[in-house]
Amino acid sequence: MSASIIDGKALSDTVKADVATRVLALKERGVTPGLAVVLVGEDPASQVYVRNKAAACEKAGLHSRVIRLAGDITEASLLETVRELNADNAIHGILVQLPLPRHMNAARVIETIAANKDVDGFHISNAGLLMTGQPLFRPCTPYGVMKMLESEQVSLWGAEAVVVGASNIVGKPMAMLMLAAGATVTLCNSKTRDLAAQTRRADVLVVATGKPGMVTGDMIKPGATVIDVGINRTEQGKLVGDVDFESASKIAGRITPVPGGVGPMTIAMLLVNTLEAAERSVN
Ligand code: NDP
Repeated sequence: MSASIIDGKALSDTVKADVATRVLALKERGVTPGLAVVLVGEDPASQVYVRNKAAACEKAGLHSRVIRLAGDITEASLLETVRELNADNAIHGILVQLPLPRHMNAARVIETIAANKDVDGFHISNAGLLMTGQPLFRPCTPYGVMKMLESEQVSLWGAEAVVVGASNIVGKPMAMLMLAAGATVTLCNSKTRDLAAQTRRADVLVVATGKPGMVTGDMIKPGATVIDVGINRTEQGKLVGDVDFESASKIAGRITPVPGGVGPMTIAMLLVNTLEAAERSVN
């Protein structure tokens, strides 16, 4: 293996320690940052994510409130819960855990969250602000990737950046953030004709497709920085990314592992977004 490993766990600990210090300063001004996480239904993966988010909040000194709702509640009653949280001064950030049950319209639910409490950064007005270069909340996963690149001193200025996967929550905001940092960005999706021709040009390659091991070493430019956002569970119960770590780590210059890469950074940036929402509420 030649690539150096980008340790997302260690960096997330540093970010969370900084959040804890800023939380203390805010508490001295009489404000405890509060995050409300709304979980609808019993999806096992969502339950784990919600538990982890609440635990990370408590550890950094933020207040967290988990609201568990039955999977068969109506969309109207979920919207009512969101509106109550919008009006609650103890809550600075609201997150509705996705995916929602099929009878609900996720876009409508997200648009109901007050844009200034939308710590996931998924609200259409926050997406618009990001696109026009005036971000309020940066979506947590791409924000965490940017922190990693910054901490590794990977310059994006004039760099070729390729993002594989174009979802609203990862790929598209990732492309916007790297574009704003001066990269020339290519955004690929499942229809991209010759994916390897695109990925081989990348100085910085971010992969977020949900397809385990789909990017292999022969698709990577020697020395490139490879960020694997994917989290997939194999039939054997092992967590793997969207990049084939074994072959990719022989070619890349830097690479993130799964687990221990982007995942911990996502939670750390959620804390940052909640803290900053609380700071804005007093300033
Ligand atoms: P989505 O399913 O919403 O989007 C996947 C994207 O990948 C789509 O744009 C799709 O293209 C594209 N894609 C699928 N197959 C290919 C292919 N063969 N070649 C090129 N592009 C392809 O996924 P998410 O963005 O929500 O998540 C992606 C991965 O990241 C998942 O593994 C998820 O678990 C993980 N994740 C990790 C997080 C973390 O904290 N580390 C947070 C969020 C997600 P098209 O648009 O054409 O359909």
